Order: sequence, then C-alpha cells, then structure tokens
Amino acid sequence: MMVVKHIRSVQRKWSFASVKEKIIRAFHDNNSVLGECARINTRRIYYLSIIAIPLRIFNILLFTSRSYDTEVLKTWSQGIIISHSILLIFMIGFFITTHKLKNRTEPNTAMYLVQYIVVVVIMASGITIVTIDQLVTTNITPLLITCIVTGVIFFIRPLTSFIIYVTSYVAYYNLIALTITDPQILLSNRVNGITAIGIGFLLSIILWHYNYTDIHQKRRIKAQQKQLEQMAYYDQLTDLPNRRLLEKIIEREYSSMQRYGHETAIMILDIDNFKNINDTYGHPVGDVVLQQLADLLKNNARESDTVARFGGEEFIILMPRTTVEEGCVFAERLRKLIMEKSFTIGSATIQITSSFGVASLHDINSQTLEDYYFVADKALYLAKQSGKNRVEKACGTEVN
Ligand code: GH3
Ligand code: MG
Ligand code: MG
Repeated sequence: MMVVKHIRSVQRKWSFASVKEKIIRAFHDNNSVLGECARINTRRIYYLSIIAIPLRIFNILLFTSRSYDTEVLKTWSQGIIISHSILLIFMIGFFITTHKLKNRTEPNTAMYLVQYIVVVVIMASGITIVTIDQLVTTNITPLLITCIVTGVIFFIRPLTSFIIYVTSYVAYYNLIALTITDPQILLSNRVNGITAIGIGFLLSIILWHYNYTDIHQKRRIKAQQKQLEQMAYYDQLTDLPNRRLLEKIIEREYSSMQRYGHETAIMILDIDNFKNINDTYGHPVGDVVLQQLADLLKNNARESDTVARFGGEEFIILMPRTTVEEGCVFAERLRKLIMEKSFTIGSATIQITSSFGVASLHDINSQTLEDYYFVADKALYLAKQSGKNRVEKACGTEVN
C-alpha cells in the first residue's frame, strides 16, 4: 500500500503537467530573486578569482618553462599562454571589483553586470582554449570543465543562461573549424560539444530551481519570525511595544542610567472613566479611541522615548535623560492635548481626559518592573484620588 502511494506521489510529481509547470516556472523571469542571486554570484566570483589567479599563473609558468621543437607545438603553447594571460588579467580585475562589491547588502548595477561579464569571459576562455587545444589533441575537456564550472557556480536565471549557452555553442561550433582539419573529428567534437553545453545548462537550471526555492523559503521563515516577534513584543491593537518589551527596555535603561549617571523619568497615563466610553459607544469605538490616543502619544514623544501600552487603557512612557520635573512638564502638555482633542469615530465625537503619574527610575532600588510600576502608580493613584485629569509626581507633589 505504502509503495503504491509512493509511486502515485512520484507520478504526480513528474506528470507531464507538473514538469511543464516546472519548466514554465524555471523560465519565468522572476525579478524578486535576481538581487539575491547577484549578491551570491558576486561573493562566488570573489572566491573563484582567489583560486583561479594562482592556477592561471601556474599554467602560464608550466608552458613558458618548456621549449617546443615543432611549429604546431610552438603555436599551441603560445596560444595557451596568451589565453591564460588574458584570463589572468580578467581574473585580477574581477578580484579587485568584487573585493568591495561582495560586502554590499543592496545589489547595484555593477553587481548585476559583473556576474554576466564573468560568465561570458569564462565561457569565451573555455572555447578559445579548446580551439587552440585542437592543434594537439581531439578532446574537448576544457569546454566540458567550463560548462560544469559556470553551471555549478553561477545562479543565472534559465532564460539568460539558455541564451549564454546557445551563443557559446554557436561560437564553439564555428571556432573549432579553424583548428580541426579532419571532418570526422570536427563532426564528433561538434556533437560532443552539444553534450558539454547541455550538461552546463542542465546544472544551471537545477541549481537555479534549488536556489530559487531556498531564497523563497528563507524569506518566508524570516517573515514568520518577524510576525512572531511582532506578536510577542507589540500590542496588536495599537502597534505600541507591550509590557514584555517595555520590561526589557526598562532593564536596559536602568543599567545605562546607573552607568552614565543620568536621570530617567517614567510616566503612567490612565484614561479617566474609560468604562463609560465603552458603555456609551461600544467596545469597538473604545478600541479606536485607544488607537488614536496611541498615535497622539507617539507623535508627541521624543525619538528616544518609549511609548508602550501597559494594558487596558493604561500607557507608559519611558523618558531617558529626563528629570521628573521635565517629565511632569511633558505629562502636563499631553494632558492638555488629550483634553482638547476630539476623537472622531464615525459619527461620534468623543472627548476624554486622563490622569498621569510621573516618577524617576532613581526611586527604584531593584531592577524589577513591579518596583518602578509601584512608584509611578502611587502617583497615578493620587491623581485619580484628587479628582482625575491631573498630573502627580512620585513624591506626592501636585504639579498643576
Ligand atoms: P478610572 O478613571 O478610574 O481609570 O476609570 P476607568 O473606567 O477608566 O477604569 P476601569 O479600570 O474601571 O475601566 C477600564 C476600562 O477599560 C474597562 C475596560 O473594559 C476598558 N478596556 C480595557 N482594555 C480595553 C480595550 O482593549 N479596548 C476597549 N475598548 N476597552 C478596554
Ligand atoms: Mg486603568
Ligand atoms: Mg481608567
């Protein structure tokens, strides 16, 4: 039963329709991964040039250290030396270009161009060397190696790689006729050339397919991680940091405050009689009020401040490098802004007020969140007790 199931799934995977779909997908020019491919290719070109440069030097030395007696051998060795020397110059150029480019996180035009130039240069060098080799041998190993190297190393989209390999074959087909005089060998090598080019192209497509899937999978995982993080550390309704994230930020700020000796203020804001808003207009309207209030707080806080939703209709603002007095001035400004703002939700226009408790992180002896909350909440309690819509600071001094 299991075997039948497996065969069916393999059949489904490799049915005509699915293969057709795979080919269409492979040839589809999906621009979304081209940048990623250019970055991968740039890094690979850099490492390839590190290996290729000493190898080219070794090849050149090997040929220059020998002397040849026949004219054919002399022409062959000179041809090989010249081609390797040109390739060496290109490789040094690629090394210099990609040395800096490889560190870029965003691909640029140079990156896009370099990868194609490198593939064309490598293919051209393979074809040139194989053509020169025909003076002394009938094998086409350099072409095969070139095709395998380009197919395995570079991530080039199938349509582009198809054009590169077909053009390379046309060049190879014509060029080898310059050095092969025997028509049988010429025919045989032209046929073998198709195999070499075909292997290169096939490898290129397979790797493109894997790379394409891999990039998309990584992107999906990254997006999911981001979403999880957002859910764990941010409030869904207001997009503000939640209590968990605030706790981490406070811990960091507490140690920074102890180290650098500055003062940091903390403010708790609680909407007055918010229950009435929900009861009068309904919970969804109450939600929008909370969202609009969150925007107001964010828009008025400093870049260095942290505005968090502590829970329900309570917000906390952490103000690094701010004294309690300065924190109270800011709270007073917010109190007026909130009182004067008309919260417009559909046809309803709602006015709210809020009470504030301001404290200094200095008043806390331990690093626990409960302690800081306790100190600031005591001030908030006082503000509520004293009639609401007011600002109180931790020591109990009334501000307004
Ligand atoms: P006080 O001035 O003493 O703070 O009175 P209050 O009515 O604001 O305080 P209370 O603690 O009695 O009520 C808080 C209300 O906030 C009750 C609860 O339904 C509402 N609330 C808490 N979270 C949400 C929320 O996410 N959305 C909405 N719409 N309401 C919420
Ligand atoms: Mg409350
Ligand atoms: Mg309240």
